[in-house]
Amino acid sequence: MSGALLPHFPSAPLVVTVIIPVFNELAVLPVCLARLRNVLDSLSLSYELLFIDDGSTDGTSLYLDRVASDMDAVRVIHLSRNFGKEAAMTAGLDYARGDAVIILDADMQDPPELIPDMIHAWRAGSDVVVMRRRTRVGDTWMKRVSAHLYYRILNRLSEVAIPPDTGDFRLLSRRAVAAMRSMTERSRYMKGLFAWIGMPTTTILYDRAPRAAGKSKWGLANLAKLGFDGITSFSLSPLRIASIAGAIILIIGSVLGLFVIARALLYGESISVPLAFVALLAFLSGLQLSTIGVLGTYVGRIHTEIKQRPVYLIQGIVERAHMPAQQRQH
Ligand code: UDP
Ligand code: MG
Repeated sequence: MSGALLPHFPSAPLVVTVIIPVFNELAVLPVCLARLRNVLDSLSLSYELLFIDDGSTDGTSLYLDRVASDMDAVRVIHLSRNFGKEAAMTAGLDYARGDAVIILDADMQDPPELIPDMIHAWRAGSDVVVMRRRTRVGDTWMKRVSAHLYYRILNRLSEVAIPPDTGDFRLLSRRAVAAMRSMTERSRYMKGLFAWIGMPTTTILYDRAPRAAGKSKWGLANLAKLGFDGITSFSLSPLRIASIAGAIILIIGSVLGLFVIARALLYGESISVPLAFVALLAFLSGLQLSTIGVLGTYVGRIHTEIKQRPVYLIQGIVERAHMPAQQRQH
């Protein structure tokens, strides 16, 4: 955009950081390193491989330290315990030095051979290159169906569109990394945060490979927690559902109550005790639920405020920068 107006400096070599969160991945690391080096060495740019050791206990830490002492391009950050992949990726974004950053799983489900295409899209002007799965060869039938359903629901509820069939495999420009880092919230649902920043995005389709070796680190409980985090961090709909349900029950209770009273007053019929009781019960519980919903709305505001997300991000400003400052004031 404005690049054409700037004076031309001989450009410094570009650096790409590949962030690889690892938790007990000793079995796949040799393959992972070999494939990454094979791809990256063939490109005309510098790179760093930033391994985030997420509290591994299987010898991964020692292995990585040895690799880092042999290769300048490798850096290892050891977390003090297992914090989970979302935290590991956050650490990676904080410590990456590259002009662009690629996040990649150690188990080779995200093929490193696609990195040149990602870099190409970035050089063509995209801040974000999202990798979208065409197929999920490596995943079980259960995981495929539940992931499909979950992302459809999340998208209905969420305030930003979270693209389906995408994982954490993606490229971010320096600007996109800065945007990610500007979100200081503690509960980090990365897929939501990635979507929140917007910015010019390219999507590349790929076939997700099965795990090269080792076992998946995600149990059902972890996935359920991550799923719940996604909905509660990116949507206040569950609160709204409580308010609406409360309001409906309140209306039913009121109508029923009025009906009982009207019948007694207009037709002189005796008040039906069970009916009156049901009306009272509905009225009171509806009142309670809708009050909780209102209370929840305030809690929701606090929840939104406390995340301290920036209110907006600027992609670019267009102005006649070459005008003298004095003229620009008028
Ligand atoms: N991982 C991590 N911390 C964890 C769990 C996983 O850093 O607590 C890493 C793991 O080493 C791998 C990536 O996150 O590089 C994806 O994990 P995995 O392949 O087990 O997940 P799946 O592909 O089964 O969803
Ligand atoms: Mg995997």
